[in-house]
Amino acid sequence: MMSVVACVTGKHNLWLVLLAALVCTSGSWAIIRLFQRAASTKGLQSLGWHFLTATAAGCSIWCTHFIAMLAYEPGAPVTFDPVLTIISLLVAIGGSLLGFTIAASGLTRLAPIVGGSLLGLAISAMHYTGMIAYRVQGIMEWDMSYLVASVVLSVVLSAISLHVARLGSFGPNKVVASGVLVLAIVSLHFTAMAAFRVTPLAIANAFSDQGALHAMALAIALVGLIIIGTGLASYLIDDRTRADSYQQLRHMALNDNLTGLPNRASFNERLDQEIGFARGTNGKLALVCIDLDRFKEVNDLRGHSAGDEVLRILALRMSNLLREGEFAARLGGDEFAAIHRMKDHEDLVEFLSRVEAALFKPIRMDDYEVTTGASIGVALYPDNADTKEMLVNNGDLAMYRAKADVTKAICFYEQSMDETVRARRTLAGELREALDNNQLDLHYQVQTSVSTGEVRGYEVLLRWNHPKHGFIPPSEFIPLAEETGLILQMGEWVLRTACTTAATWTPRYKIAVNLSPVQFAHSDLPKLIHEILLETRLPANRLELELTESTIISDKIRTLDILRRIKALGVTIALDDFGTGYSSLDTLRAFPFDTIKLDRSFMREVETSPQAKAIIRAVLALGTSLSIPVLAEGIETQSQLSILDDEGCDAAQGFFLGRPAPLEQIMISGQITMTDTGTMRDTTIRDRSRNGAGHGFDETTAFLDFGPRMRSPV
Ligand code: C2E
Ligand code: CA
Ligand code: CA
Repeated sequence: MMSVVACVTGKHNLWLVLLAALVCTSGSWAIIRLFQRAASTKGLQSLGWHFLTATAAGCSIWCTHFIAMLAYEPGAPVTFDPVLTIISLLVAIGGSLLGFTIAASGLTRLAPIVGGSLLGLAISAMHYTGMIAYRVQGIMEWDMSYLVASVVLSVVLSAISLHVARLGSFGPNKVVASGVLVLAIVSLHFTAMAAFRVTPLAIANAFSDQGALHAMALAIALVGLIIIGTGLASYLIDDRTRADSYQQLRHMALNDNLTGLPNRASFNERLDQEIGFARGTNGKLALVCIDLDRFKEVNDLRGHSAGDEVLRILALRMSNLLREGEFAARLGGDEFAAIHRMKDHEDLVEFLSRVEAALFKPIRMDDYEVTTGASIGVALYPDNADTKEMLVNNGDLAMYRAKADVTKAICFYEQSMDETVRARRTLAGELREALDNNQLDLHYQVQTSVSTGEVRGYEVLLRWNHPKHGFIPPSEFIPLAEETGLILQMGEWVLRTACTTAATWTPRYKIAVNLSPVQFAHSDLPKLIHEILLETRLPANRLELELTESTIISDKIRTLDILRRIKALGVTIALDDFGTGYSSLDTLRAFPFDTIKLDRSFMREVETSPQAKAIIRAVLALGTSLSIPVLAEGIETQSQLSILDDEGCDAAQGFFLGRPAPLEQIMISGQITMTDTGTMRDTTIRDRSRNGAGHGFDETTAFLDFGPRMRSPV
């Protein structure tokens, strides 16, 4: 079309002009996309994309030009210089490569403009080289002002095109950049042809073979379009692949790998949206925080793949129960959360009953059944909280309450829960102070032989007499110390104090010190014990360490290794609270324990329940077969002791034999005397002053009552 206007001496073949236009627009469309792709990649990949961009650009520019020239019928025979024609193609490709590479380089902010200008120059150079290759039998004239204008237009428009293309790969940018590039190519041709005049010299009928020229134009267009098409196809394939992998990545980023449920990130996103929605519609929503109750057990006893399967099944149940306005996610581990848009309380209760049913329904595995159960905490927006953080915090508090309350699976948030948490935090602070200020005490409870009644040793039990709240049971402050990590320092203090004290005793009874699982996980226990033994000069064989099975289960290999190193020091190891929790034969086989401590819960029922008696008998038989002595805990009556005696139990401990008591009480009863009174006087004085205050715990007196029952070792 531009050639028609430009060439005053010839006419144009319209079809070929349209073909040139097609090549130019489709080419530009592809070039801009390829260029943006090249600019967004690095290294070898970017090199490949640059090559494709330059080839597609060079070919489209050159083909447009060449087809337009073939469309031009100057009225005189036309030939093309083959060498110059090929050079013009190479100029187009090479110039494009340079221009696009610089434009994509990001070296300076002006790089796209510099690269674009170079591209414009390349288009011009290609055009004029092509024109020199164009041989027509006539007088050719050039108008310099048009020539300069054509180059300026090409340079400026190409620079604008690449500048726009580099602003971002949004749809409108692409369209503008491609359009301006078309303009750059077209305007160059248009103006350059206006600079060109041909006055035919040849004989009127000496025309070139137009048919052949048109066929060539078609062939060139075809090859040009194929090259552009190839570039475009690469782009589209890559684009699709990228879109797919983006989708996949997004799915991975927002969903939990194992269960496919939305993960914490999508949960947070969704909770924000739902709060926004509730705010906008004056609506309500319920946040449901869920923590499985017995999931760890499944993992520990059945292995991780069984644990994974349980999570998958529960997740599937959760996603199947959802209706409109409901959402469920796995936040990690055995923690889930759900959101429910509330109409009224009834419909929330109905939702919760669906959740509860899903989590409490037994799961059938290969040859066994698992019911994990769950602790479910509910907090409402806006009733309980007006921000997301508060809502999540309160949902968690309610869930912890549900966890602590064995009678309820679901707890709704109440304000008093904040106070409980605050009180716990205060208590933790006070416990730290108590430890720092030496306000903790040790009590000792005797362990005796069942058949002879002789003292076997003393279990060391930690006591905290709070200045305001009085006696706080270890079952309350030990978990607190474990949560806060204070147990490490506390456990070390217990060990050191107990060993220091026991080292001075006559007779040289053994002491049994309790260890927390946290001490195994976080400190170099064997080293600490070794140091304390050296420091206090307590012979290793007078120290027994008590640990529960849960300590071993949590990290079996590591714990067993630590236990072996401790045992190598000569210290003995007792398995505490046996019969509760796991009670697996595996644990007993895995390590040569020196004592099995049968949990006190069996003693309570031994006189009335045949099952309890059967269990005691079984554990005693187990102890015999593994050659591990069994110590029964919680002996409160003579008849319990007699039963144990009949069953052949080795040792016993309990209120009937002696309550836990401060050392001075034991000394008063004459069971123990100190050889090194200097060291111990301080402790005794401190113990006396502290225990005089009456902490409402009558174990001391009770101990004295039963004291005479204990016999000295022979
Ligand atoms: P445990 O290791 O099973 O300690 C025995 C518990 O049974 C003691 O409770 C003791 O007072 C109680 N007991 C003894 N005889 C009888 C009886 O005849 N009937 C009844 N009903 N109970 C009896 P205590 O002192 O309240 O300790 C509770 C738990 O706190 C201990 O259970 C132990 O797990 C932990 N604990 C105590 N001191 C320490 C310590 O220094 N370090 C660690 N890590 N834990 C400790
Ligand atoms: Ca114990
Ligand atoms: Ca115990």
